[in-house]
Amino acid sequence: MTDHPTPAFRDVDTAEAVRLADQGFRVIDVREQSEWDAGHVAGATLLPLGDVAARITEVVPDRDAPLLLHCAVGGRSARAASWLVQLGYTNVVNLKAPITQWKDRGGRWEEPVQLLTPVQQRRYARQVLIPEIGQEGQRTLLDAKVLLIGAGGLGSPTALYLTASGVGTIGLVDDDVVDESNLQRQVLHGVDRLGMLKVDSAELTIRGLNPETTVVKHTERLGADNVERLIGGYDVIVDGTDNFDTRYALNDAAVKLRKPVVHGSIYRWDGQVTTFVPFEGPCYRCMYPTQPPAELAPACSVAGVLGVLPGIVGLMQANEVFKLLLGVGETLAGRLLMFDAMGTTFDEVRIWRDPACPACGEGVTADQAQPASAVSA
Ligand SMILES: [Zn+2]
Repeated sequence: MTDHPTPAFRDVDTAEAVRLADQGFRVIDVREQSEWDAGHVAGATLLPLGDVAARITEVVPDRDAPLLLHCAVGGRSARAASWLVQLGYTNVVNLKAPITQWKDRGGRWEEPVQLLTPVQQRRYARQVLIPEIGQEGQRTLLDAKVLLIGAGGLGSPTALYLTASGVGTIGLVDDDVVDESNLQRQVLHGVDRLGMLKVDSAELTIRGLNPETTVVKHTERLGADNVERLIGGYDVIVDGTDNFDTRYALNDAAVKLRKPVVHGSIYRWDGQVTTFVPFEGPCYRCMYPTQPPAELAPACSVAGVLGVLPGIVGLMQANEVFKLLLGVGETLAGRLLMFDAMGTTFDEVRIWRDPACPACGEGVTADQAQPASAVSA
């Protein structure tokens, strides 16, 4: 190891190391995280060689604790053992043998369930680093099913970012075709897709962005007759519709099936976003008990809309989807967020559950609503 006298630690073979571990020696693994992730001694503590000097006294305050150090073959752990002895640790042994023998010699071994494939680990690396997401959160996103009502202005940014960041299944409800006047804001589509069904165009874009994403195309218009069938198999619904009939039909079915709906609406320079979580916050009928006349919800084709506005509102919706799926943060349930693009200001108003709401009020309880699991995918 060195020419200088080195304080003593003892090298052991695998059979003895397994025996010492069973007798209560604390196992310190000085390999790197990636090596640990591939499998490690059950009950061991990971302390990569580069961290040993800085962290050992915090990890093992008792200098008389019996310690068994190992790495892949015994070289790195010999260096660590030498440092430990110099730091005053009195009972240090080093496994001088390949750790691959551990299992064969009867040692207890753990192989963590791999939640992500190597391709997924690379693709979502920046997102997995976020403590609130991690591998489990990414796995949750990959297993999630999100339904977008409309593959237009709001659906475009939502679909792009949900797809890019790994939501596994995107359902699209739209029976419209791509028109030239859509392209100013509906960024899922392009000039080469004019006349194509929006769901087909969206599928092409989504596949190009993330081939792992499953696209489910519903080439139909959402209405009271098909809404329960359409939303039944999904975890979260994103409402990008532009008429009151659809919103009320969606609301009533979503409350009944207990599906959260992320609501967005746009008008010229103004956007609104909120999230309806059945029986936890207000629903659309709590907010608007009676259906306003249709002229109060003029379509973009009549009223006009700023191109970036659905981008901003749609991404606020995507952000809500992530929090709902991951179960983190605070959603907009009970809060209506209003964005004024002209002044670049956000305002928020509180919205409350209405005890008299015909969809989710006192006459209706969560127990009476049909559990979501009763609906087939
Ligand atoms: Zn309600």
